[in-house]
Amino acid sequence: MPGKTNAFDRVAILGLGLIGGSIALGLRRKGHAGLVVVGYDSDDAARATAGEIGLVDEMAASASAAVAGADLVILCAPVRAMGGLAEEISAALSPGQVVTDVGSVKGSVLAQVAPHIPGGVHFIPGHPVAGTEQSGPRAGFAELFEDRWTILTPPGDTDDEALARLTDFWQGLGSRVTCMDADHHDMVLSITSHIPHLIAYNLVATAHDLEQVSEKEVIKFSAGGFRDFTRIASSDPTMWRDVFLANRDAVLETLGAFIEEMTILRRAIRQGDGDLLFDLFNRARDIRRGIIEAGQESAAPDFGRHPELGEDGENKKESS
Ligand code: NAP
Repeated sequence: MPGKTNAFDRVAILGLGLIGGSIALGLRRKGHAGLVVVGYDSDDAARATAGEIGLVDEMAASASAAVAGADLVILCAPVRAMGGLAEEISAALSPGQVVTDVGSVKGSVLAQVAPHIPGGVHFIPGHPVAGTEQSGPRAGFAELFEDRWTILTPPGDTDDEALARLTDFWQGLGSRVTCMDADHHDMVLSITSHIPHLIAYNLVATAHDLEQVSEKEVIKFSAGGFRDFTRIASSDPTMWRDVFLANRDAVLETLGAFIEEMTILRRAIRQGDGDLLFDLFNRARDIRRGIIEAGQESAAPDFGRHPELGEDGENKKESS
């Protein structure tokens, strides 16, 4: 069912980077008459750029000023900045407001933010599972959330009406919405997003450190697989440092399982166990088929990249 971006009339976006900027642009495209989008970013340069490109209707001078009178407040800062930001706006929040966030880790954000939410204010953490390796106000685009999942992690005592309005809001931006427990979110995302980024960072670092292969050769002969990893490994270092520190337990558990599988693969290669390698690679193909059937990826070659190429030749739409 299509959602409504008119679930809220005054939306405050705190953090005007890729995600905050994309929400603002999505609202501009689909929003309703009378909707006012207020923005704030702690970074002067980001604020100036957002003003220059007209990302929001009103630019506030502080986070507190931005949230006053808003019916929806969206925290779009890096994960480890969420607690400080919530503390900053706490006194300016008033009953009936809905506060949400877009952080890639949910348990940590809940623990950081919830203590600063006054009674009567509805705090519902969220994570749009959509992003790119770009950051900053110029990286945003209105279609980012289309057909991508947004995961909401409402605490047990969440107000039904506030949850329904927030669900409508995300659906209005084109997103599909589902709810789950914050800890389960963090475990699922550790394998679908966080470990893949860790592997990408590590693979690119390994290529850099290999003594027998020069950096020139790595660049010159970079095959499709390696190029894909370099794109992921160019993601924002602040965001990813925060993700790994904030989702430490789930990431360590998933990393342990990954290392065990890697050890099995290494043994199979050493022992010439082709059957094991073939079976494992075959199972991986089934997972990819499932992702395509679920409409989250194209079956086109080159990982479905061509239809979504940006001006710089990079894929504009990847999950994070
Ligand atoms: P981004 O492009 O770097 O934008 C974040 C902006 O927030 C930056 O301008 C940052 O300024 C600013 N900021 C930092 N602390 C702040 C504060 N206390 N108050 C107001 N603004 C503050 O990052 P992003 O990619 O949009 O990510 C934002 C959030 O979305 C993160 O929590 C991330 O986990 C989540 N997320 C990201 C993706 C993705 O693919 N990128 C996908 C889904 C969710 P500074 O540069 O000075 O820090």
